[in-house]
Amino acid sequence: MYSCGGYSGTASYCAAGGGGYSSGYSAASCSNSYGGSSYGGKAEYAMPETPNFQMADVFLTEDRPMTPIVSELGEVRQIIEQTFEKITGQEFPAEDIQITICDETQFREMQPANGVVGFSFNRYGKGTSEIYAIQDHMDRLLLTIGHELGHILSPTLPNKQDEEAKAHAFSLAWMETIRDNNIGGLQPNISPNPAHNGLHDVAFDFVKYLLKTGASSFDVFKTLSHGLTSIIAEV
Ligand SMILES: [Zn+2]
Repeated sequence: MYSCGGYSGTASYCAAGGGGYSSGYSAASCSNSYGGSSYGGKAEYAMPETPNFQMADVFLTEDRPMTPIVSELGEVRQIIEQTFEKITGQEFPAEDIQITICDETQFREMQPANGVVGFSFNRYGKGTSEIYAIQDHMDRLLLTIGHELGHILSPTLPNKQDEEAKAHAFSLAWMETIRDNNIGGLQPNISPNPAHNGLHDVAFDFVKYLLKTGASSFDVFKTLSHGLTSIIAEV
C-alpha cells in the first residue's frame, strides 16, 4: 500500500502506462493536503508531464536565490491561495482541490517515470480533484503546483496537446502573478519572460503562438479551457 495519499490495491497508472488505476482507492490521508476529500471513485485521468528540469529552465532564473525544500503544504498554502485569488479574483476552492506533497519514495511509487514531479486527477465538476507533487525547493514546487492547477481548473480537453497547452498557459499566468506581486518574496526567482525561453514542447509552442495575439497567459488559458481554439488547427 502506498503510504502517500492513501492509495492501496494494484494501481497501474503511470506516466508511460496506458490504463487508469482501479480498485482499492481510498481517500487521501496525508496530513499535508487540503483536507476533506472522501472521494472513493475511480480516477479518470492522469496526465504525463514534461520533466521538471526543462520547466525550471523556462520559468526560473539561472542564478536565483536558493529557496527551502518544502515538504508540507502548510509552508506554501498562503502563497497558493494568494496567487490563485490574484489571477482569478476568486477564493481558492479548497474543498474541490486536494494538494498532496509527497517525498521522493512515496511519489515514485505512484509515478515511477524519472523527471516527472507532479500529476493530477481531474474531477472538475464531479468531485474533488487531486494534485500530487514531489517535495522540492519552494520555487520549483510552486511551478509544479501551478501547472497541475492548470489541468484541473476546467474539464480535461479531448486533445492531449491542447490539455497540456492549457496547463502551460495557466502555469505562465501563475508564475507571472507570483513574480509581479512578489508573492512569497519569489520575484527574483522567476524569469522576466518565461514565454521566450526555449522548451522543445509542441504544447508550449502553441501557447507562445497564442500569446503573440497580445492575449494574456490567463486569457490563453481561458480560451483553451473553453475549447475555443485547438492545436489541431495549427498542424
Ligand atoms: Zn501537464
